[in-house]
Amino acid sequence: MTTHKETDILIIGGGIAGCIAAISLVNHYNVILIDKLSEPKERIGESLAPAAQRILKQLDLLEGMQLFEKEELYVQNLGMQSYWGSEQVHIVDHLRNPDGLSKSLNRKAFETYLRASAIKRGVQCIWPAKLYRSAFEANKWNVITTSDDHKEQCIKASFVIDATGRQSHFAKSLGIKRLHIDKLIACWATLPNKEENKMSTISATENGWWYSAVVPNNKRILAFQTDSDLIDRSAIKDLHAFIQLSKKNKQINQILEKNIDEITFQGTVAANSTRLEQVIGQQWVALGDAAISFDPLSSQGMFNAMASAQQLKKLLTTSDIIYNHTPVKEAQFQETYTQQINSIWDQYLYHKNLFYKAEMRWIEHPFWKRRQVRKS
Ligand SMILES: Cc1cc2nc3c(=O)[nH]c(=O)nc-3n(C[C@H](O)[C@H](O)[C@H](O)COP(=O)(O)OP(=O)(O)OC[C@H]3O[C@@H](n4cnc5c(N)ncnc54)[C@H](O)[C@@H]3O)c2cc1C
Repeated sequence: MTTHKETDILIIGGGIAGCIAAISLVNHYNVILIDKLSEPKERIGESLAPAAQRILKQLDLLEGMQLFEKEELYVQNLGMQSYWGSEQVHIVDHLRNPDGLSKSLNRKAFETYLRASAIKRGVQCIWPAKLYRSAFEANKWNVITTSDDHKEQCIKASFVIDATGRQSHFAKSLGIKRLHIDKLIACWATLPNKEENKMSTISATENGWWYSAVVPNNKRILAFQTDSDLIDRSAIKDLHAFIQLSKKNKQINQILEKNIDEITFQGTVAANSTRLEQVIGQQWVALGDAAISFDPLSSQGMFNAMASAQQLKKLLTTSDIIYNHTPVKEAQFQETYTQQINSIWDQYLYHKNLFYKAEMRWIEHPFWKRRQVRKS
């Protein structure tokens, strides 16, 4: 039996973008937020840029984060030791940043906190509920979702936000293509932290780059980034292969050798720069990674998801297309949103290229060569 619900805005995806959008919009509209997972999963992506904290503060979410047990949700990150462009270490810190230090998150706990905050603020949250199909009829979206026990639900919405991450499931179901700028992947592992020095480390190597960060519960994340076509699949498929790879990098090997027996291989995920060819359409938008996804070198993915959610809220409330929709307003709304996302994307590509061009030691290796020539 299918159950029916109706709302102003349906947000598909309860990650960072979906939760921040829901919390920002719930004072203005009825909002339903769905996610296919009944709870967030462990995942990589822990470094929260200082500027993101300004957004959390505006939304009254920062204080709640400070109520957690010390270092349960995040640890303050003093900075980064960077071995990029030479064997010489460069320290990049946020000591003089007016927004404070960056935070290294327990990502699962942070997403759980955002979901709980959305519920508290009055967002109608439904999980697990997975996007199944949708149809646009009489100026409304009818979105069908399924749960783990195959029960269907029909949600009628005036507006849909696709916040399903890199998969952009809603946009994809409408036939919209994704543009892939490169083939970057990340293989990652976790281990207990045994180092006094809790700064993050980034270290370039012949066919990619490594990073390591300390996260709550004295845990450490270790990740290797390379292009999927430049590495033998067997070299990244299990713990043994991962350890062999990590031994080739001096800085990473130093971190690993103290507790090589306690490392857990977590898997390989897509980490490439991608964007939707069309980020908006009739009464829907793509938000966060669903619209544009970044190389982890930037450490800006979560900030972008939050800042874009804030920008979208402003645009939706000022354009008044939810309660007083007209084709003219819709066209203006679509044009402005597209311009905003294009501008973020262009800036992102410009800075990404600058960073990669700063590493010239293996300029003849395809990993670095392809990153020197690409135009922004
Ligand atoms: C290796 C790596 C390292 C990274 N490191 C950092 C970092 O240090 N700092 C940083 O800021 N960013 C980092 N990022 C990027 C960051 O993780 C993303 O930018 C961020 O998760 C984007 O949030 P989102 O809400 O847009 O998407 P997601 O976090 O992907 O959330 C999407 C949500 O949608 C749900 N969903 C998906 N499909 C469906 C469906 N069909 N129906 C219903 N629900 C669905 C998912 O369950 C999920 O909860 C990293 C990324 C990678 C790959």
